[in-house]
Amino acid sequence: EKPWNLPDLELDFDPWAVVSVVFRAIASVSPPECGAPPSSTVPTTTDYPGDLGFQLRFQQSSTAKSVTCTYSPDLNKLYCQLAKTCPVQMVVNQKPPLGSVLRATAVYKKSEHVADVVRRCPHHERTAENNEGPAPRGHLIRVEGNQLAQYMEDANTRRQSVVVPYEAPEVGAECTTVLYSYMCNSSCMGGMNRRPILTIITLETGDGQLLGRRSFEVRVCACPGRDRKTEEENFRKQQEKNVPKAPSGGTKRALKEPSQPASHPEGSKKTKCVSSGEEEIYTLHVRGRERYEMFKKINESLELGDLVPLADQEKYRQKGHSKNKRDKERDAPEPKRGKKLLVKEEKSDSD
Ligand SMILES: [Zn+2]
Repeated sequence: EKPWNLPDLELDFDPWAVVSVVFRAIASVSPPECGAPPSSTVPTTTDYPGDLGFQLRFQQSSTAKSVTCTYSPDLNKLYCQLAKTCPVQMVVNQKPPLGSVLRATAVYKKSEHVADVVRRCPHHERTAENNEGPAPRGHLIRVEGNQLAQYMEDANTRRQSVVVPYEAPEVGAECTTVLYSYMCNSSCMGGMNRRPILTIITLETGDGQLLGRRSFEVRVCACPGRDRKTEEENFRKQQEKNVPKAPSGGTKRALKEPSQPASHPEGSKKTKCVSSGEEEIYTLHVRGRERYEMFKKINESLELGDLVPLADQEKYRQKGHSKNKRDKERDAPEPKRGKKLLVKEEKSDSD
């Protein structure tokens, strides 16, 4: 009797179905939650238009309170609400080869997090809400309104991506639009956990050859309009802060070369850029170097105050107090020293 003579056996099940089930089970096993070695392959995020001139475009949108998805060109950053539609327009100068695809992958922006795979948080993965469709529950990025969307997980790196076939723009249009949505908030505990992410969009041939790559930052939050406005304002302030150096150098020169009094009646006065804390920059003319330095110091303190959160400011203040206290205790063991010092100062003032 030949034991391998399988066809003679009368099975009431299809052995290939069992093999297929086992294979799928092995393929879908998740890596251990902790202690897993970081994946070795980190996706590239640099822009590469390629020969086809691959580009992304975003619909113009406001920073109104009600907006659910808005893109900041200044920051190359998309702000959106959880599970809301984010249209991304794909532009090429030349038609890519037939069978080309568009792949979206999420990756952490900061180098200290980049080895971690971006996944949904355990809560959103398990809950019934937003998990009715065919998309795998663990995937952060989904494609809406496209039956051909394929969700992939790299067998080696475990990185997830969603792929759609590239479709040429409709007649009269110059771009193809893909509708993405993000299924977790940036703040989700156990998921992104406030770590900023980038979305990488790659245009690839059917057999995986790279044709072009673009990336943009994404923040998924409750108030996209408000957050975009705040972050753009901070960005502008930061840029303004870098500007005053040049003008102050210029004023120094103006002081050393008081050669323009005819054209400039206040030639000996110094100019100073003073930020009002809003968008506009005002110039203040100050008489005398000492006063100028004083105003400069005040302005620098105000700028610094804008950057440091209130809670931290309070901490610094308390640190400052306790330091002064310690210094006093060390320098002056007798408690009435402070008064004596004051008297001394008064004396020296009158001198
Ligand atoms: Zn979540």
